[in-house]
Amino acid sequence: MSKPTPMMTQYLEMKEQYKDAILFFRLGDFYEMFYDDAILAAKELEITLTRRDKKNAIPMCGVPHHSSKGYIERLIEKGYKVAIAEQMEDPKQTKGMVKREVVQIITPGTVMDDMISENESNYLACVYKDEETYIITYSDVSTGELKVTSCDETTMLNELSSIAPKEIITNVNLPNHIDQHFKLMTTIVTVFESDKNFDKVSDLKESLQPAVNLLLSYISETQMRALDHIDQPVEYAALSHMRLDMYAKRNLELTESIRLKTKKGTLLSIFNQCKTPMGNRKLKEWIERPLVHKSQIEERLSIVRLFNDEFILRHNLREALTHVYDMERLAGRVQFGNVNAKDLIQLKYSLEQLPRINELLSPYRNIVEGLDGIQSLAPLYELLETSIMDEPPATIKEGGIFKDGFNQQLDYFRHAQRNGKTWLTELQAKERERTGIKSLKISFNKVFGYYIEISKANLVNIDVEQYGYDRKQTLSNAERFITEELKEKEALILGAEEKAIDFEYDAFIQLREQVKTYIPNLKRQAKRIAELDCLQNFSEVATNNDYTEPKISDRRLLEIKDARHPVVEQVMERDQYVPNDCSLNDSGFIYLITGPNMSGKSTYMRQVALISIMAQMGSFVPASYAELPIFDQIFTRIGAADDLVSGQSTFMVEMLEARNALINATENSLIIFDEIGRGTSTYDGLALAQSMIEYVHNHIGAKTLFSTHYHELVGLDASLDGLSNIHVAAKEYNGELIFLHKIMPGAVENSYGIHVAKLASLPDEIINRADHLLESFENYSIKELNFVNKDENINKTQDNIEKNERTQDLVQPSFDLFGESNDTAVIEELKSLTIESMTPIEALLKLQELKSQIK
Ligand code: ADP
Ligand code: MG
Repeated sequence: MSKPTPMMTQYLEMKEQYKDAILFFRLGDFYEMFYDDAILAAKELEITLTRRDKKNAIPMCGVPHHSSKGYIERLIEKGYKVAIAEQMEDPKQTKGMVKREVVQIITPGTVMDDMISENESNYLACVYKDEETYIITYSDVSTGELKVTSCDETTMLNELSSIAPKEIITNVNLPNHIDQHFKLMTTIVTVFESDKNFDKVSDLKESLQPAVNLLLSYISETQMRALDHIDQPVEYAALSHMRLDMYAKRNLELTESIRLKTKKGTLLSIFNQCKTPMGNRKLKEWIERPLVHKSQIEERLSIVRLFNDEFILRHNLREALTHVYDMERLAGRVQFGNVNAKDLIQLKYSLEQLPRINELLSPYRNIVEGLDGIQSLAPLYELLETSIMDEPPATIKEGGIFKDGFNQQLDYFRHAQRNGKTWLTELQAKERERTGIKSLKISFNKVFGYYIEISKANLVNIDVEQYGYDRKQTLSNAERFITEELKEKEALILGAEEKAIDFEYDAFIQLREQVKTYIPNLKRQAKRIAELDCLQNFSEVATNNDYTEPKISDRRLLEIKDARHPVVEQVMERDQYVPNDCSLNDSGFIYLITGPNMSGKSTYMRQVALISIMAQMGSFVPASYAELPIFDQIFTRIGAADDLVSGQSTFMVEMLEARNALINATENSLIIFDEIGRGTSTYDGLALAQSMIEYVHNHIGAKTLFSTHYHELVGLDASLDGLSNIHVAAKEYNGELIFLHKIMPGAVENSYGIHVAKLASLPDEIINRADHLLESFENYSIKELNFVNKDENINKTQDNIEKNERTQDLVQPSFDLFGESNDTAVIEELKSLTIESMTPIEALLKLQELKSQIK
């Protein structure tokens, strides 16, 4: 390879410093990428890969500077970082190499502007490990929010899953299992080192400062600018909300559907009545962090009730909110320094609504708690109202921002600009009169500016000196002059525009600084507005869908009548959804749920979990009556869907989720286990399922819904007092299966697997054959399996499983599961023996074998 060119040397040196980012290297009108960056970007952006430098054939690709934003956005979305290297000098005026510098590193957690969604927060989180303690600090650079807390590992993982950061940085390499967790949440995890100090607040605990420092240094290293736009850190307690770990959030499809990873089909999608982006962001936060303090929950519920009862109030509030823009992010832009006049107008319109909203709510302030006054920020409104035009341009560099009358100096410049023409015609008339030359005219050209032109014929009659005319240019048939007065006017007219623009720019910066002083208050009001928006959303949704106000129980009672699944009922015709009850308390806290496939077991369990979450968010719930405990956490193990995201095997994920629940659940938790043990052989699965139920029953006491395909488990109610059987009813009618979706007491007798296959329109031949096989398996399990001794029994069964998968579900194991002995089997066998055809020895052996099977 030959020596790299000077430019490539510059590139390579730069790239060395930004190894983990894709380097956008400015070359004239393009950003170019080279080597591996080029290969990667060409693939991700679907752009052409070319070669630079024929000799070395360096891979290269590029995007035009003016349309780079979209490309950068795509790379960020895919989880890459992009380093932007600009030309720091004008190439036309530089000899040799143009100086280039990286001016910003754009990362998923630090992007701003329209590259991020307005309906969710864009968090960058820092996980700082200090021996066994974790300090979490996170920030949304678009709003300046900065929060910090410290906790143990489990809480940290839960907390992070609630924060749902777009990017994580850590101070050290974290253990593998944590890393895996992180990778499920976000694509970018960076170990970052810095010894920079940001001693911003004195009252923040000393121990939390290093984490805050690390986060701030990361932001400052990527943004490459001062951090004025980030708020002071606020410490918070990680446990002040219901804990929903990553599995629960995913399984219950709170904000993202499992399969498509979209909002459709989620709990979030039900609450679609927010009027502001701030409300939508707050809503997402509320869904991911339901409350755990009764008074807080009841405060929200009482406001929702008020909005339900007072239709006009709700209507007017919703109307007012439609005029409120994203005050939070607008405030963030003011802080950041990239706000423009249009933004300030949006801010003004938003502020205009504050007194209105305040007035709407004030009559109810004495009746309902939590409707604290909204400050109207009138001085800020006045300031914006008197200064900025109603339709200002998007740039602050071309003037046209401020209203007439805002500033005398500016008015003078503007006047000069606008009246320039009139002055000139007036001057022309005056000069014509003075000289008596009717054809005298004032004109303009780029080289000489304004001039007075007199034809040669007219010139012979007058002495121009006398009038103070100064010769500028001689043409073949005319002469051009200027006068002192004309020069003055010219300066005024030509300078006015430029001066006005400069003036407006400076005035805008000043105004921005003035607005900055209102930011803390502005953000407080924005937060109140976001909350009100969420609550009116709850009310609107509750009214439209016929929800009920839940009662928060002091006795750990869960009593729901006619409950519906909030999402599933939406996709059904009215009244098609079959409502169901659920009743759990301290003495009966486990439901073992059986029922054929597709009967509604999973739906039922999820609906109980979702209703609990909704209630703790402060929302009404889809039921006719609901009294609910406050759950400290909800654990789930739902569905047998392959965990494609993490690449772990299903059974391992199943066990990890189960472990998480069994280790962390308390008597105040809700556990939802949906067909646990599916992923392994029948006996393993069955054994694990049973021991887990026993463990929950004897050691945890958490409210638990446990659905199972193991009918062997239904006998557990005899030994476990807190457990009862329920099933989802289905009816056989003319050989077809009819799902009633109705929860009934007791266990189901039949698993109806083949009926479901029939429903799915499997070919008749297969269905008939399966029916036949089922029959023979059932006979087999009684006649054959039970004759052999225990060990052989298991071996034989496992062989059988390998031969035919259906056996897994259908063979009834004979070993001692519930304290029942094998005696029945032995008796069965004795009955079926044909002694006449046995030799004495055979009979003796058989006798010995049978005896060995009896305990
Ligand atoms: P299972 O877990 O028992 O296999 P699911 O809970 O997945 O069954 O339910 C299967 C389908 O039955 C759901 O997709 C839904 O369409 C329907 N379903 C479930 N519960 C109800 C209900 N209570 N009322 C009406 N339809 C229901
Ligand atoms: Mg199911």
